[in-house]
Parts: sequence; C-alpha cells; structure tokens
Amino acid sequence: MDWDGRHRKKERLRTETLLAQIGNGREPRTGAISFPVYNSTAYQHPALGESTGYDYTRTANPTRTILEEAIAELEGGDAGFAASSGMAAIQTVMSLFSQGDHLIVSLDLYGGTYRLFEEVWTRYGLSFSYVDLRDEEAVKAAATPRTRGIFIESPTNPLMRVTDIQAICELAKKRGWLSIVDNTFMTPYCQRPLELGADVVLHSGTKYLGGHNDVLAGLIVTRGEELSTQVGTLHNAIGAVLSPQDCWLLMRGMKTLALRMEKHQENAMALAQFLGNHPAVDGVFYPSLQEKERRVQEKQSDGFGGMLSFRICEAEWVPVFLQSLQVLSFAESLGGVESLVTYPATQTHADIPESVRLKVGVCDRLLRVSVGIEHLDDLTGDLSQALDQARCTVTTGKGV
Ligand SMILES: *Cc1c(COP(=O)(O)O)cnc(C)c1O
Repeated sequence: MDWDGRHRKKERLRTETLLAQIGNGREPRTGAISFPVYNSTAYQHPALGESTGYDYTRTANPTRTILEEAIAELEGGDAGFAASSGMAAIQTVMSLFSQGDHLIVSLDLYGGTYRLFEEVWTRYGLSFSYVDLRDEEAVKAAATPRTRGIFIESPTNPLMRVTDIQAICELAKKRGWLSIVDNTFMTPYCQRPLELGADVVLHSGTKYLGGHNDVLAGLIVTRGEELSTQVGTLHNAIGAVLSPQDCWLLMRGMKTLALRMEKHQENAMALAQFLGNHPAVDGVFYPSLQEKERRVQEKQSDGFGGMLSFRICEAEWVPVFLQSLQVLSFAESLGGVESLVTYPATQTHADIPESVRLKVGVCDRLLRVSVGIEHLDDLTGDLSQALDQARCTVTTGKGV
C-alpha cells in the first residue's frame, strides 16, 4: 500500500483544530467533551474469541488510544504510541535494532539519549557515530557496511544546529537506513518530519506537548504498515507505556499547544535579539540567527521554536547570574509555560565526557533558556538585572 500517498491525499484539518479537538466526539455513550480516564487494566470479553478491542491495558487502553491516534494524525503518520517518558519512547524504538548495527547520530545530542546509547546500547553490541548532520559529506563518511539507522535532532540541543531533514532522510532512504527524528523541540505544530521523509518521529511529551512541567511522557509515531506493527509489538513487549491518567493530562496540555508555541516563539525571537545586544553576552544560538540555518529552518518548519542558548562572557559569572534570577527559574527541563534556565555543562549534558562536550561546543559559558509565555518585559528585565549583577559582582566584588 502507498502509505505516503494515502496521507498526502487525505483532507487534513488544520493543526490548531486537531489539537483543540483531541478526544472530542469520541465517547458516544455520554458525549463527554473531555475524553474520560479509563483506569481499568482488564476488559471483559463478549464471548470466546471475541474482544472489544481492549483486553489488557499494557496492550491497549481507551484513553491512550485517543492520545495515540491524535499524535499520529498531528505528525501525519500511520500509528502512534504513548510511552512512560521520552527516554522510554527512544528505548522502544532503539529495540528495532540488532547486535552489530551502527547508527549515525546528531552531534550535540540530548544528554540522556547520549547516555542511553553509550552506557546501555553499546553493551548490546550497537555502535554510534556522532556527526554534524549539517554536513552531508560527513554523514556519508561516517557510514559503515553495518549502518542501519540515523538519529536526528533538529534544532539540536543545546546549540540549535539545524539539519536539512529532507536531504538527510533522502540519503537514509537511498542507503536503506531507518531515519528517526526527535521532534521534541519543534512539536508537530512547527515541524512534521514524516512529511519530510523520516520513518519515525519521537517526542518527549514532558516538554512542549504537555507544556506545564507536570507530566512525564513520551510519544512515537511511525510511517508504514510493517514498521508500525513492529513498533507496536515492541511497545507492548517492553511495556514502558503511559498510564491512563498521564495520557489524559498530556492531552489536556496539547489542546493549547498552538497558542503556547506562538507565544514561546515570539518571546524567544525577541529575547535572542535582546541577548545578542547585551555586553555580558558573547554569542547567541537561535535558529534564525545563522543565515544558512535560517533558510533550512524556514524551508522545513513553521517558526524557530522557543529554545535558545547563549554564552556569557566569563564562566565565573555563571553562579551569580543563576542566583540572581527572580522570574526565570534555574531548572532542568524545557517546553513549559514558565521560563527556565539550564546550565548544560552540569545538568542536561553532565553525562557527556568533558572532552566530547567541549568538542561539540557545550562549554562552561553556555546557558540554555526555555523561553516561557510570560510578558516579554519581565523576562528581559530579569535577564538584564541578573547579567549585570553577575558582571559587577565578579569584576568589582560588589553587586550592582
Ligand atoms: C527531555 C528530552 C528527552 C527525554 O525525555 P524524558 O521525557 O525526559 O524522558 C529526549 N529528547 C529531548 C530532545 C529532550 O528534550
């Protein structure tokens, strides 16, 4: 069957509509607008050899089904799977590979993914090459006869490097590699990798999809019947599925994703500009700032996202800067309505060896901001006073 064609031809409601309507009209017995939480783990069979479609909740759960169908439709895929965390989603997809397989992976990868690959999967005989995916020649050079997959983050975390997803997925298809995109940073509101040729899309639903820093979740979307069946089998076999309550909470968050992303992006764009002009800042990383990456981003995405990173002038300023923040919180996550600042060197990327970390550009002066939906003036005001405080305290021994 031509899975590609099926989706391109299908009349698709706009993303905002799909998001706001998740679960609506799906409970005919009561007409519930908010789809109920089905806590039951077991389901009665109508007769021998018959099933309502639900037997046991690890295999399928009605609340989870609504979420899984929603994310599949949003990403333009054939099947969706809800996992107990983003890492559980990655673990499930990685179980498609076998001993001896080699994967090519984005260079400045989410630290937890790097840890899973290097500390767990290498023990099962998988190997990984970390490559700057902006350079197609480097990707070709990293390929081995055992290469079976490519794992893409775009924009990358934390340096916001933009990969031409379509070009890399085309190369992957030619070579017979499975292409996997971690779409956590962009969400299907801004970027739909399956439409650009990817085979699998992953999310940490904990971030923008949930959006309120109150639910841990992961999502997988697959394209094609065979791959969807394989991942479905692994999802059930491994069992790292999302609980019905958390499925409900994630859907509750997703309904407002479009509004939130617009505000995140608007604030991030303005903050990137503000930081770029601040004397205590030495370099800002945001996908709109490098000419070449901006063009790729504009081609494949609707917007630049709500994440940015910047280098403070001196590493010694970091502790005072973080301590001085009053509106932004020094915390280790992203994608929520509240603005958070992360110090990748000791937080998200602490498990990456220092030499590797420095080589990819995650230095001790780098700070990452998950820009929230607060009023812009409160964000610029807070960053400004904290940067000034850091600069003056360290250089003069006194605060501002
Ligand atoms: C947070 C994150 C993950 C891991 O997700 P969890 O829900 O924390 O398990 C994976 N990839 C990216 C890009 C992330 O930001």
